Amino acid sequence: MTIARYANRFVCDLVAYEAGKPIDETARELGIDPSQIIKVASNENPLGASPLAKSAMRAALDEVHIYPDGGGYRLRGAIAESLALGRENVVLGNGSNEIIELLCHTFLNRESELIAAQHAFVVYKLMATLFGASYIEVPDPHFTHDLDAMADAITENTRLVFIANPNNPTGTMVDQVTIDRFMNRLPDHVIAVFDEAYIEFPESAPDTLRYVRDGRNVCVLRTFSKVHGLAGLRVGYGLAPAPIAELLQKARQPFNVNAIAQAGALAALTDVQHVANTRRINREGMDFYQLAFTTRGLEFVPSHANFLLVKTGSGDRVFRDMLTHGVIVRAMSSYQLPDWIRISIGTPAQNIRCLNVLDAVLATPVT
Ligand SMILES: *Cc1c(COP(=O)(O)O)cnc(C)c1O
Repeated sequence: MTIARYANRFVCDLVAYEAGKPIDETARELGIDPSQIIKVASNENPLGASPLAKSAMRAALDEVHIYPDGGGYRLRGAIAESLALGRENVVLGNGSNEIIELLCHTFLNRESELIAAQHAFVVYKLMATLFGASYIEVPDPHFTHDLDAMADAITENTRLVFIANPNNPTGTMVDQVTIDRFMNRLPDHVIAVFDEAYIEFPESAPDTLRYVRDGRNVCVLRTFSKVHGLAGLRVGYGLAPAPIAELLQKARQPFNVNAIAQAGALAALTDVQHVANTRRINREGMDFYQLAFTTRGLEFVPSHANFLLVKTGSGDRVFRDMLTHGVIVRAMSSYQLPDWIRISIGTPAQNIRCLNVLDAVLATPVT
């Protein structure tokens, strides 16, 4: 195969993103029914989608022959209103992953640098690589972003600093004082990106939107994939001062968020009951696992999100063995954490089953 010789070098060098293993694929491989399998690997909402979103999406089917509103007028307006921002501050994306890509499109080239933490979400690195930029990884002692060290790492070539808060896959969070100190040091040629995909899960969280209102160099990422249960729909958004938002709008496809997704997301925003139920079941599941791991003497990282990192020894082995019992978790070797797995909080029944299977697998000697 020589065609790759003619392709963009940055694309050739890319290691594709490895997603959580799909239920259907697992069912095919094990030769069992998909309904026998639980997936607690991708931090999805175990309660499913917001019921209000589902009914709005069914209604939207009747208009699906019409192109969506490329400007996302209603959804951007509703998001802005719920956060006391303006519509001009909101950029919709095909998942917040698209906003990550738009930021890289807009601000990175072969001379520039993107800074992230050692155990940050891998998509930042993939995107930096895709645009030919340098990816600068800053150590995160105790699995927590070290914002002082990240500020120290900024050079004249730095354009983006990614801070996931709470972070995936560690579940740790940085506080307001630390963020304020970081923002005080941020030079004019750098944008701080706060990826807040899990911001609805902690009891309380720092406020980064004040920096959007103050017109600072920030972009805050949010998503409908987690607390709203709409991961399959692909809707997320960026919140930024208008001059930054306008640039991102230029970099996107004209109809990047489809009509069903806009209708579903709009309804999900109003579904405070579903969000409350999701937060409650998550808190209960988190307590269940943390107590169970403590009892068993298994090391874990206390989490503010809807998943937990737990140290099991060979995560690849534990992942594979749990899979044969129909439970899909995430091995963490691609995050330089070969002895850890990440478990998403499920329903109470899923949590019990997952823990029982983990116990069985850990009790079985490695062959
Ligand atoms: C899940 C997740 C997202 C959300 O991605 P979408 O594209 O909105 O589904 C973003 N950032 C992090 C760190 C995540 O874990």
